[in-house]
Amino acid sequence: MGRRKTPALFGTQIRMMEINPMQYDKNRYKIWALPHPLILFWILNPVMIINELILGQRLPKVTLIDKESDAPFAERGYVPCPHCETLNDGRIWAKANALGHWFGFICPNCHQIIPCLWSISSYAVLAVTYPLWYFPVRFFRDRWIEKEKTRLAKVLERPLIQAVDVNWYLIGIFFWGGLMWLVMGVIPEAWNVLNGEEWDLMMLFVFELPLWLVTGFGWGLWMHFTMNKKGKGRR
Ligand SMILES: [Zn+2]
Repeated sequence: MGRRKTPALFGTQIRMMEINPMQYDKNRYKIWALPHPLILFWILNPVMIINELILGQRLPKVTLIDKESDAPFAERGYVPCPHCETLNDGRIWAKANALGHWFGFICPNCHQIIPCLWSISSYAVLAVTYPLWYFPVRFFRDRWIEKEKTRLAKVLERPLIQAVDVNWYLIGIFFWGGLMWLVMGVIPEAWNVLNGEEWDLMMLFVFELPLWLVTGFGWGLWMHFTMNKKGKGRR
């Protein structure tokens, strides 16, 4: 019992040295899996607690980026299913279906769970708070997965998003920046007020709000260029 079972309910475990049984064409695909620097960045970044535990935004253990397509980056990512070996279009888990995947991604082909990563911080939080979530999660897990399947079916009915359709600046400023302001500024401040301090509105609105909105814009800028970066187009 205890920590060993902790991640098993979420269907994932961090195994740094895991050898994946699937073989990928390294000439055709860039493979994003540990220890790829971007994956390490995700795993080590403490902010991912918000993305993963609160929002349920996950990163699959393996992502393949097609090097030979000339499509924008956002349209070149594939998520391989280790169960049925289907290469799923990464955009299936974008936009309206980007969040809420606490138990991993559901494979559209075989409906099994495609394992995702947990950042180290989220993993630590999960381990420490284990008694709080173990029974609720056991109760809700299958129900949630059924919900995920319904949602997946809806996503598959519609055409997948195009990279140009996404306004990363607006998402960065209002969603990411706003959320960070709420979590890093408003909630701690509210906590202080509950403990008898005065509201520090100056700090909250004059300093922190612009700071997070600008940071959000920076994030949006980075996402915009990354997601639209064209492939080499050899095929
Ligand atoms: Zn599958």
